[in-house]
Amino acid sequence: MDPRIQPIFDEVLRRNAGEVEFHQAVLEVFESLGRVIAKHPQYAEVSILERICEPERQIIFRVPWVDDAGRVQINRGFRVEFNSALGPYKGGLRFHPSVYLGTIKFLGFEQLFKNALTGMPIGGGKGGSDFDPKGKSTGEVMRFCQSFMTELYRHIGEYTDVPAGDIGVGGREIGYLFGQYKRITNRYESAVLTGKGVGWGGSLVRTEATGYGTAFFADEMLKTRSESFEGKRVLVSGSGNVAIYAIEKVHQLGGVVVACSDSSGVVYDDSGVDLELLRQIKEVERGRLADYAERRGSSSDYRAGGNIWSISAATRIDVALPCATQNELDETDARVLADNGVLAVAEGANMPSTPEAVRVFSEASVLFGPGKAVNAGGVATSALEMQQNASRDSWSFDNTEQRLVEIMRGIHERCATTAEEYGEPGNYVLGANIAGFTRVADAMLAFGVV
Ligand code: NDP
Repeated sequence: MDPRIQPIFDEVLRRNAGEVEFHQAVLEVFESLGRVIAKHPQYAEVSILERICEPERQIIFRVPWVDDAGRVQINRGFRVEFNSALGPYKGGLRFHPSVYLGTIKFLGFEQLFKNALTGMPIGGGKGGSDFDPKGKSTGEVMRFCQSFMTELYRHIGEYTDVPAGDIGVGGREIGYLFGQYKRITNRYESAVLTGKGVGWGGSLVRTEATGYGTAFFADEMLKTRSESFEGKRVLVSGSGNVAIYAIEKVHQLGGVVVACSDSSGVVYDDSGVDLELLRQIKEVERGRLADYAERRGSSSDYRAGGNIWSISAATRIDVALPCATQNELDETDARVLADNGVLAVAEGANMPSTPEAVRVFSEASVLFGPGKAVNAGGVATSALEMQQNASRDSWSFDNTEQRLVEIMRGIHERCATTAEEYGEPGNYVLGANIAGFTRVADAMLAFGVV
């Protein structure tokens, strides 16, 4: 790390003790910024780096709710409003038992650069709770969401902070959250949340956007080596929102996704994952991947507790799309993928590769797209949803998807040209970090010390 930046990072470690994911996210950005500070000393003169690591506001609140047995349950709610230099705070809500302040801060920090990369007028924020939706009844999920929004409503708004979904928060949860917001405020403010149902203010393509965008970005990376998805064999980890639509678009682009996973195991399906069956089980029945293998029959193989990346040691894999969760792909996994000839890795999830894994890909000249660029199609389409809400309009699927394609091409271009400008062509990590940072930093410079 640049010696001018090291003390700032040391201070981040000191002030945010124990928040290891947040440290990791800051480290990854700081490692890219030495050359920027050398070229633009004005950022250091007014402490932009120090300011950018400190959220503008952090809200932590109690979420009491009553379970089906009549017992009172208590969870912790979070909203970290990280940076509003470019627009209202924007970023999803995550409901997962592992959530603590450090998770939300890492996600919020990533989000502010990601949102900047889209070129759209949105700041960065993130929120969530340690609530575990798994095994809860629909009534319990609804009561939890209502209680969560009973506190959150006072902090959000179309011009202030616009949450959306993330792990554990899909269309059902956004519906309950929006219903409660509307009830408390007596205002139909469509643009206060995104990821809404298409019949009540949502945008076509928002559900598909993060997964589709991931495939579009990977496709752009492949083009730089005169390649495409045609005939490529692909691994997609996870089987949630991002994974399902990444699989769909890869199939439409001519690739074959031969495996996916959940937190319990991995399915290998040599003839290609049957998307219709997967969606039925995951989206309609809210079931597990083990059910997929059981119903698909002999063409698929389920390994409880399996490691999806190790599949590349046994069969040809050309592209890997980690779409599950943070730090799910480590150095050993990266070596197996790289040693067995993977061409490209594009992160549909947020920070799924450990720093050591990223180093392995870079040393092996594997095309590597970082999450803050690759998965930005989700938030970009949320911004398109806000545009439609503001103009009381709704756009067709094709029109919206075309906008997404153009946005993803633009992000790819921004990362690629910035990496080239800073002397490392093909380094998307460097390109994404610098392009995202400079857009936010320039706005912060213009605003003075605020
Ligand atoms: P979902 O809750 O819809 O799906 C998450 C998937 O990942 C589930 O299949 C889950 O399995 C699986 N998973 C979780 N932990 C592990 C693990 N340790 N090993 C293997 N699989 C695991 O979430 P999303 O698809 O929305 O989000 C996935 C990632 O994409 C997250 O990093 C999120 O932050 C990021 N993202 C999402 C966006 C969106 O628009 N939804 C936008 C940008 C980024 P199980 O059911 O067993 O828990």
